[in-house]
Amino acid sequence: MASSPVRCSIDLDAPGKQVGYLDLPRSTNTSGWSATQIPIVSVSGGDGPSALVLGGCHGDEPEGQVAALNLARDAQPDEVPGRLLIVPCLSIDASRAYTRLWPSGANLNRSFPGRPDGPPDEQLAHFLSSELFPRVDIVVDMHSGGRSGMCLPWSEMHWVDDTEQRHRMVEGMLAWNTDWCVIYIDIAGTGLLVGEAERQGKTVVSTELAGGGHVTAGIHRLAASGLRNVLRHFGVLAGETVTRGALGRPDATILRATDLDDYLLAPASGLFETLVELGDRVEVGQTVGLVHFIQDPGRRPEPIVAKSAGVVCVIRAIATTEQGDNVLVIGHEVDRSELD
Ligand SMILES: [Zn+2]
Repeated sequence: MASSPVRCSIDLDAPGKQVGYLDLPRSTNTSGWSATQIPIVSVSGGDGPSALVLGGCHGDEPEGQVAALNLARDAQPDEVPGRLLIVPCLSIDASRAYTRLWPSGANLNRSFPGRPDGPPDEQLAHFLSSELFPRVDIVVDMHSGGRSGMCLPWSEMHWVDDTEQRHRMVEGMLAWNTDWCVIYIDIAGTGLLVGEAERQGKTVVSTELAGGGHVTAGIHRLAASGLRNVLRHFGVLAGETVTRGALGRPDATILRATDLDDYLLAPASGLFETLVELGDRVEVGQTVGLVHFIQDPGRRPEPIVAKSAGVVCVIRAIATTEQGDNVLVIGHEVDRSELD
């Protein structure tokens, strides 16, 4: 395969702290020979464990971008026994626009593993897959519900079949110290960043930190504290790991949303009304939401009915809804031992 057209301005193997850019080729009406410059920070104090921390895969998810920017500014080589690579915002133009997708319509989180001769999102995905993932042991990819979804919030993981890898991922997921953890599946296409990192055997830790188009101070704190604790857990950052027990909190509730029936889709286009709150327990057959018809007051709203019993972990945040939009996700409590 051809080499990457993405140019990295720092030496990814050098010691110390470096701040540079990934130059992603760009050609626009106002600048024919230019690049989208995506900041990258490398902090290395030795040959210890290594991690890649990623924010802003989706532009309307600022929690991870802020946490990664703070970490990138603060981290120093004397507290990183191995290597810490940080890309605080992968999707620069989408972040500026506060949109999930790139202005081109590309979803970077469906572009993996990417290709060097594809469109820019696939070029960037390919650089990550071929240059950054292979350099690290751990990949942390921070997401949230963005503008369209409100999540509990939680740290999360895919189910991976490799027992050893899965155990490391469970440990990483729990080290975020969120109240909730979720095992999930991909229901809207393939080509996810985490999927490629998992395929390469990496320990992947991800999140869905609230959302709904805004971020509270508490969520910023959860992003910052969780990220640092996960990195300490794996020895990427020096310092003691903090457990929920030490914080006086009960064990996290682990949910799985691994059946298609857990992801409820709008049965009609209209105005979505939720009848439940995040964290509510629902039963099979329970009406959990309604779709109203704004130009037809006489028409009964279309009910949205739970197909499985469990805990509401996502609620759609944008009321205007098209048929087939995901409006609710229901998770099912699992015991930690079921993840062994
Ligand atoms: Zn996302």
